[in-house]
Amino acid sequence: MVRLQEIRSGEVAVDPPAATDAGLVFIGRIRTPWTSRLDCPRQGRQDGPTCRIELFEPWAQGLAGLEDFERVEVLYWLDQSRRDLVRQSPANDGTTRGVFALRSPVRPNPIGTSLARLVGVEGATVLVRGLDCLDGTPLIDLKPDRCQFTPIAPPQKGDFEVGD
Ligand code: SAM
Repeated sequence: MVRLQEIRSGEVAVDPPAATDAGLVFIGRIRTPWTSRLDCPRQGRQDGPTCRIELFEPWAQGLAGLEDFERVEVLYWLDQSRRDLVRQSPANDGTTRGVFALRSPVRPNPIGTSLARLVGVEGATVLVRGLDCLDGTPLIDLKPDRCQFTPIAPPQKGDFEVGD
């Protein structure tokens, strides 16, 4: 995994196509204790420090009901990542793996996800433990943990399809 912007032995950078606008909207900002990528955890831990996810208006009312869940899936934009390394060397030993076989922050679309433990909801702020991102990282989305969530909408045809 690239930690800052360097390229290591064996790693492969490509010329990525020009970015297109998918209409992504940052819905908040994540407050964590980490200001350097070199100090962040590689993966958040459920007993890690409590972090604050601050929702921007008008999204705060979208938190209604989230407090029913123990865990929340947090999606964020790893905004300081380079985006062009298709092969990476996490151990910096000349051996590489493809980006899609890694959870490196360096990816064509630098989306990070963590399954965090919900500590509480205070107005427009969600308190969680289990994050691994820099202070100020933009928030893309929050969802209840899929293992704790049962669809509320009525079933539809595809729900019953099995096999090839
Ligand atoms: N848990 C997420 C995942 O699996 O999708 C992210 C894992 S990634 C290995 C976590 C690392 O990303 C941190 O250790 C830090 O080096 C880096 N990182 C954190 N915040 C970042 C940001 N805003 N921009 C770029 N890199 C960041």
